[in-house]
Amino acid sequence: MNTVGHLINGQHRPDATRTQDIYNPATGKVSKQVALASKETVEEAITAAQAAYPAWRNTPVGKRAAVMFRFKALLEQNADKICQMIGEEHGKISHDAAGELQRGIENVEYACGIAELLKGEHSKNVGPNIDSWSEFQPLGVVAGITPFNFPAMVPLWMYPMAIACGNTFILKPSERDPSSTLYIAELLQEAGLPDGVMNVVNGDKEAVDVLLTDKRIQAVSFVGSTAIAEYIYETANKNGKRCQALGGAKNHAIVMPDADMDNAVNQLLGAAFGSSGERCMALSVAVAVGDTAADALVSKMTVAMQSLNVGAATDSNNDFGPVITRQHQLKVNGYIDSAEKDGARIVVDGRNPQIAGFEEGFFVGATLIDAVTPEMVSYKEEIFGPVLQVVRVNTMDEAMQLINDHEYGNGTCIFTRDGEAARYFADNILVGMVGINVPLPVPVSYHSFGGWKRSLFGDLHAYGPDAVRFYTKRKTITQRWPSSGVREGVSFAFPS
Ligand code: NAD
Repeated sequence: MNTVGHLINGQHRPDATRTQDIYNPATGKVSKQVALASKETVEEAITAAQAAYPAWRNTPVGKRAAVMFRFKALLEQNADKICQMIGEEHGKISHDAAGELQRGIENVEYACGIAELLKGEHSKNVGPNIDSWSEFQPLGVVAGITPFNFPAMVPLWMYPMAIACGNTFILKPSERDPSSTLYIAELLQEAGLPDGVMNVVNGDKEAVDVLLTDKRIQAVSFVGSTAIAEYIYETANKNGKRCQALGGAKNHAIVMPDADMDNAVNQLLGAAFGSSGERCMALSVAVAVGDTAADALVSKMTVAMQSLNVGAATDSNNDFGPVITRQHQLKVNGYIDSAEKDGARIVVDGRNPQIAGFEEGFFVGATLIDAVTPEMVSYKEEIFGPVLQVVRVNTMDEAMQLINDHEYGNGTCIFTRDGEAARYFADNILVGMVGINVPLPVPVSYHSFGGWKRSLFGDLHAYGPDAVRFYTKRKTITQRWPSSGVREGVSFAFPS
């Protein structure tokens, strides 16, 4: 059976000491294996990245950008192949995979402008004949650790900018769907990146822990679940590293009584069930203000959900695919069970759908649950499946309080026709990314992405302008060239 290995110093590095199965989630069958890197293999990658750093750091910024331009072209040329690889291991339908890839490519596009982004700050004559400027220098070897749900896009949030800034990189992708991630890194190599600048090590906790503790790693970017994000942030910090760790979510949409209900239903359908709800920006809770709005939402949603198709990635007419593993399928079903047990009303039940020809696949159908309350486990925790829960409240303030009290603060949205209410919401809600009649307010590549509260540990958001700050350190230089005529005497006073 095919084993997905590593990419170290520009070479494929097979490694079959420890392996894990990769499944095709639509068939439920093992399709490949992935190598799980040992400490020694990760150290080999760090050594390669360390060796490549001095030359890459000193490569003119225009030449670094030129690699990104070629990389972008290669990603576009090979888009179909990448989307197919994503479909085979993640289960995502091709239109959804194409969207993910496009959002990833936009980060490469942003990195193409690195010369402009890295320009420093300059001040002339800060003192007599003294000039001062700040420049943004790369950190050295940096690492990225990524989740299964966006095997192309999330890694592309990280390394194009890190590398364009002059760093060398080690990526540890998700072990559940690593093939497209590895293939994309090979395309970067093909774009002319010198060996060792970009390395991929596949693996699990053993590999991650080396990246978190090895002194040669300067910074770590992480995206994944909150419990692991917190562990990554604490361990990286303890080991003196800069760290940004993006975690899980529970994204609420407020549906106001004045909302265009048909539009809200259409938007919620895609945002709740797209990608089987396995998005950190999925809208998984609709907070309906008033029973009239709630009843209209639930009845229209119930009708609209009848036309949804869940099925394999091989049929692009499907709306969404399976969830990632059998274990995750059982977990999502378990949350639906618990909501039912806690007294919520299962309006549309997606447990155990029968998909002809894919009876062993890890499918969960679109599920709608009404009368959910904040004490329920299914409300408190991230389900990460195609489940939309409806919470009924009486006022907008009550709806906002619910969102502000939740431990996560990744994304949120309001559906309304009232500009004043929308403005108040955007100003006061304790969430990092806010949509107004926009269900998935994922920032474009020239803004930055990040949640608040327990959805992000660290100070800087991912990609965009924050990535320049995260992957560089500021150096401020003050200079004077005294000629013999202006030499000054000794002074013990603080310079002013
Ligand atoms: P995960 O936390 O299980 O895994 C993420 C990464 O951490 C993987 O590379 C994995 O190998 C590694 N890992 C797992 N357990 C580890 C451990 N004990 N020690 C060290 N490393 C470990 O997440 P996942 O299931 O792959 O992804 C889904 C989660 O990611 C969801 O919670 C989702 O909300 C979140 N996510 C967040 C964002 C965001 O931007 N905030 C984006 C995408 C996904």
